[in-house]
Amino acid sequence: MRVLGATRSARLREAAEGARRALVGRRLWHISSTAAGGGVAEMLHLLVGYVNDAGIDTRWVVIDADAQFFAITKRLHNRLHGVPGDAGELGGDEGSHYRSILESNAAVLVRRVEPGDIVILHDPQTAGLASHLVGRGARVVWRCHIGADLPNAHTREAWNFLLPHLAECQAIVFSRAAFVPPELSSADVWIIEPSIDPLSPKNHSLAPDRVTDLLVRIGLLPGERPVSGTAVLGGAGPFSPGDRIVVQVSRWDHLKDMIGVLQGFAEHVVGHNDARLALVGPSVDGVVDDPEGSQVLAECLAAWEALPERARAGVRLVALPMDDVVTNALMVNATQRHASLVVQKSLQEGFGLTVSEAMWKSRPVVASAVGGIIDQVPPDAGVLLDDPRDLDLFGRTVRSLLERPDELVALGRRGRQHVRDHFLSDRHLIDYARLVEHVSQQ
Ligand code: UDP
Repeated sequence: MRVLGATRSARLREAAEGARRALVGRRLWHISSTAAGGGVAEMLHLLVGYVNDAGIDTRWVVIDADAQFFAITKRLHNRLHGVPGDAGELGGDEGSHYRSILESNAAVLVRRVEPGDIVILHDPQTAGLASHLVGRGARVVWRCHIGADLPNAHTREAWNFLLPHLAECQAIVFSRAAFVPPELSSADVWIIEPSIDPLSPKNHSLAPDRVTDLLVRIGLLPGERPVSGTAVLGGAGPFSPGDRIVVQVSRWDHLKDMIGVLQGFAEHVVGHNDARLALVGPSVDGVVDDPEGSQVLAECLAAWEALPERARAGVRLVALPMDDVVTNALMVNATQRHASLVVQKSLQEGFGLTVSEAMWKSRPVVASAVGGIIDQVPPDAGVLLDDPRDLDLFGRTVRSLLERPDELVALGRRGRQHVRDHFLSDRHLIDYARLVEHVSQQ
């Protein structure tokens, strides 16, 4: 692989060969709650594709569930991040609905999974499948992509709900050590950091003309658009080709604080320089496992409409079409590449792939010092905000960086190198190969 160089490519081949030998006659399954939208789906496209190419029979199954189930699992998601999410409970009724949906999914899965197969369950939505699959003779790993740096009453409530489902897992994977609850300290816990795929449509290089074409298609730059229309919301027109643009790409989730970015930018950046802001997320009908999406997007749109005229003119909300994952990824790629600065002002973050995605494209980043973002951004390759709720700090940081073009370039260059060293797919695939070998030998 040209991006990796000979030594890293050889190391990767060796790890893949070890996993392939360990898995002869078995299959590797990934089970998640959605095939599109969000970091888990993003990574599974990578893991499944490359691992199949390495000769390991790998399958990916998406569970089938109703709106009530996803409301419960979104509550679990929020509480694992240390916030209530909504006012609902995680009690007996929620537990029995969660179990019954996963029982129906398990009934289908146990007819496909063979004894000895290895199954990796992703996130709270799938944890309740573990005992069914262990009963079938599979080796089961649960991978948790989220968590809070400090426990509180909400995290404890979520863990009380989940822990009974995890008792039979052979191994449990977290993205960072701080996310491991004390109750799992005697389990076989692995820390595996996520990664980005430099060759995927989301991250591969794009010629400047291609970037412009994609931004025209989105509606962020002027030009002739196909009939499908603009992805820019609220009737706003495109920016000018020479405008400097600050970008945040996220799901529409309260924890990504798109509204905070909008308000902080409108109050503390607009009027101080010529920069514009684009808040970019998926079109909300495309992400089925996230019931908050449409509500958060509507709140952002209302906040944008309430801005003074001048601030509204400097901010765009963009809902990218999700009907074609490759086009969606290319649109994200082009938007990140076009940005003068990428922000990720999350209030909590499991990992935050968008940060590494931007750094890989040599974009300077301003991001919150929370969760996995802390692990991705060393001090010389981006700026971390100690208090993600401090809009004045956010605005001042963005403003002052935009005044220092040389610093922007230097941060971008060091960011790309840091991602090359730590967050590309080869390291992640090697970590997985070791895990799979380990679990298959148990
Ligand atoms: N993303 C996307 N299309 C969109 C918005 C986001 O493909 O319209 C991707 C984004 O590029 C990243 C992932 O969704 O790869 C989000 O992952 P992250 O770890 O940042 O956050 P999560 O959504 O998992 O909380």
